[in-house]
Amino acid sequence: MPSSRILPEFELLMPQSVEEAVKLLKKYKAKASVMAGGTDVVVSGTQGFATEAVISLAKVPGLDYVKFSKSGGLKIGALATLQMVADSADVKKNYPALYKSAAINGTPQTRNMGTVVGNVMRASPSGDCACALLALGAKIVFQGPNGKREISIDEFFIDYKKTARKADELAVEIKLPAPKTGVVSAFNRITRTTLDLSKINAAVCLTVSGGVCKSARIAMGAVAPKTIRLIDSEDLLKGQKISDAILDAISASVGSQISPIDDVRSTAEYRREVSPVLVRRTIEEAIG
Ligand SMILES: Cc1cc2nc3c(=O)[nH]c(=O)nc-3n(C[C@H](O)[C@H](O)[C@H](O)COP(=O)(O)OP(=O)(O)OC[C@H]3O[C@@H](n4cnc5c(N)ncnc54)[C@H](O)[C@@H]3O)c2cc1C
Repeated sequence: MPSSRILPEFELLMPQSVEEAVKLLKKYKAKASVMAGGTDVVVSGTQGFATEAVISLAKVPGLDYVKFSKSGGLKIGALATLQMVADSADVKKNYPALYKSAAINGTPQTRNMGTVVGNVMRASPSGDCACALLALGAKIVFQGPNGKREISIDEFFIDYKKTARKADELAVEIKLPAPKTGVVSAFNRITRTTLDLSKINAAVCLTVSGGVCKSARIAMGAVAPKTIRLIDSEDLLKGQKISDAILDAISASVGSQISPIDDVRSTAEYRREVSPVLVRRTIEEAIG
C-alpha cells in the first residue's frame, strides 16, 4: 500500500508570469494542477491524487494583493492568502461574511499558505470562503490563452468539484461589489473541532432598509454536491419586514432545498436538523 506521506511523482513547473502559466495550462490542460498555497493540492497528492504536472504560482509576481476602494469594491489576487484577507480592516468592516470565513479557516499554518482563490477553485462543497463569496455575489476573473473573462460565482459551481473553469484558464482575481448603504452580511459554520472542515456552513448577504429586506442572498455548504444558494428562502425574505414569523418561515423552507449526505464529518440527519437553525442564526447575526 502506498505511504500516505509520499507524493506521487509529477513534473514541477515554475512559471515566472501569468502569461507563462497560461501557456503551460494550454499545453497540459487537465493533466496539470495549478498550485497556489498547495494546502489542498499537496494533501490530495498524499491521498493518491496523481497529476502529470504541477504548475506552481510561487514565482508569479503581482498576484498577492487585497485591494479595496469605496467606489470599486474589493479585489483579491490569486496569491492573496487567507490570512491577508483576514488581516484586512476593509474586509472586516465591509464584508464580514468573507472576513469570518477566512479568519476561522483551518489553522494558522494553512491560513498563511492557503489562498481565498484556491478555496473557491477547489470547489469543495464545504469550502468556507466559497460559501461566503457566493452569498456576497463575487465575480471571478480568469486569464486564458485568448485573454480575460469574468464570470459570476453563481455560474461557477456546477456539480461536485465540477466548475465552469476551462482547463486552460488561470483564476487571477476575485472581485466583490462596492459596499452599499444597508448591505449586511454574516457567515457561520459548525465543525467537529475548530481546526476541522465544516460539517455545514451558511452565509447571508442582505440589503435592509427600515427593517425591510430589499434583497437577499443566502448560501449553504456541505448540504449538497456543491455550494448552493437557497433561492426559495431568499424569495421568502425579499420585500418583507424581518420578523420572527418570517424567520420561522425561512427556517421551515430550508429542508426542501438541501440534499445532505452521511460522511466522515457528519450525518445527513444531523445536517438536516441543524441547517435551518444555522441559516436563521446567520440572518440574525447579519441584521444585528
Ligand atoms: C489542515 C487543513 C485545514 C483546512 N481547513 C479548512 C477550513 O477550515 N475551511 C476550508 O474551506 N478549507 C480548509 N482547508 C482546505 C484548504 O486549505 C483551503 O481550501 C485553502 O483555501 C486552499 O487554498 P490553496 O491556495 O492552498 O489551494 P491549492 O491547494 O493551491 O489549490 C486548491 C485547488 O484550486 C486549484 N487552484 C488554486 N489556485 C488556482 C488558480 N489561481 N487558478 C486555477 N486553479 C487554481 C488547484 O489546482 C486545486 O485544485 C484545510 C486544509 C488543511 C490541510
